[in-house]
Amino acid sequence: MLKVNNLRAEINGKEILKGINLEVRPGEVHAIMGPNGSGKSTLSMVLAGNPAYEVTGGTAEFYGKDLLAMPPEVRSHEGLFLGFQYPVEIPGVSMVNFMRAAVNAKREYFGEPPMSATDFLKMMREKRAIVELDNKLASRSVNEGFSGGEKKRNEIFQMAVLEPKLSILDETDSGLDIDALRVVAEGVNKLKSDNNATIVITHYQRLLDYIKPEFIHILYKGRIVMTGGPELALELEERGYDWIKQQVDNEE
Ligand code: ADP
Ligand code: MG
Ligand code: MG
Repeated sequence: MLKVNNLRAEINGKEILKGINLEVRPGEVHAIMGPNGSGKSTLSMVLAGNPAYEVTGGTAEFYGKDLLAMPPEVRSHEGLFLGFQYPVEIPGVSMVNFMRAAVNAKREYFGEPPMSATDFLKMMREKRAIVELDNKLASRSVNEGFSGGEKKRNEIFQMAVLEPKLSILDETDSGLDIDALRVVAEGVNKLKSDNNATIVITHYQRLLDYIKPEFIHILYKGRIVMTGGPELALELEERGYDWIKQQVDNEE
């Protein structure tokens, strides 16, 4: 579903991504790991179409279509979901209304009429149950005053409602407690199907105690320098990133 070929990107004139190659097929879970500052968040921002980043080379195809040519909202309608590392707060807009707007914008994109209020509320109830989201949380303003764990649960809820084909979840490098990690992991595992895929971006191995990716990629200095199976995450936990850094730095 996703084919990234030699992708290069910069921000403020500084090249961050220096030739990324990545292929994701339906049904797969990938983890992208790597030291701080290696370009993990930049990769997710570029795939989501954040205009602050300039693509300077390479291609990214999503189901054979040129992803990089699509405006961000079209990427979302086509089935790409980005869980933000730092979710925005939208005071005065309830989660319910926010989600209704998102769902109906997608339907409009595919030439379908808006969902009836009854159907929408029924769907919200079903999805809330999947992610165990409190009804009170759903009626509050988007992310306003939410705890870290609540924001994560909310993010997974949005994912459940929008039913993306590819979800990119960029985890914060710090501050997520075990409960919040479990919420993310259980959500990802419950929503996993043969038709969708997930890329989990994480600095630490511990999220991977709960989510079992088939592929682990190490991003360092803007390139994927190593790809392996689940055993690579365990090796990283034991040995850290230094041995990979040294290997790459020696080759430069
Ligand atoms: P990671 O998510 O792997 O920690 P990032 O993608 O956040 O890494 O950052 C990669 C590099 O890009 C870092 O060196 C960072 O300092 C740099 N960077 C990120 N945002 C900006 C910006 N707005 N201007 C200049 N450099 C940036
Ligand atoms: Mg970082
Ligand atoms: Mg990051």
